[in-house]
Amino acid sequence: MFNNIGKKIKTLTVVCFVLVLIGVVVYGVVLMVTLRRQAWIGLLVIAGGFLACWISSFFLYGFGELIESSEKTAENTSLLLQKLKAPAKNVPASSSSFVKSAGNTEETWTCQYCDYKNPTVTSFCRNCQRSRY
Ligand SMILES: [Zn+2]
Repeated sequence: MFNNIGKKIKTLTVVCFVLVLIGVVVYGVVLMVTLRRQAWIGLLVIAGGFLACWISSFFLYGFGELIESSEKTAENTSLLLQKLKAPAKNVPASSSSFVKSAGNTEETWTCQYCDYKNPTVTSFCRNCQRSRY
């Protein structure tokens, strides 16, 4: 019922504009017929009514347009977020596995003399004190 309210406001504005305009024209014509000598008053009512109606419809129509565009923006933002979230799930998984595999080879080094596994931070074997290289 309240979905797409922006479009409904815009449609309502157009309908109201047409209805009020018809009313103004009818009232103006009636005035022109009844006030024969001051027929310009009827014309003035038509012109003034048309202007007032037209200008006030700007605001309502603009309001509808604003709601419609913000609804579209919200829709686009959620779509964009979904697209951003989908690959983001894969990136940390692959990067963490990369880090892990790199870590396994680099965390320790095996001494070429005594086969002792030393941590990377050391340059000399902790078992035989010989140089790593
Ligand atoms: Zn060693």
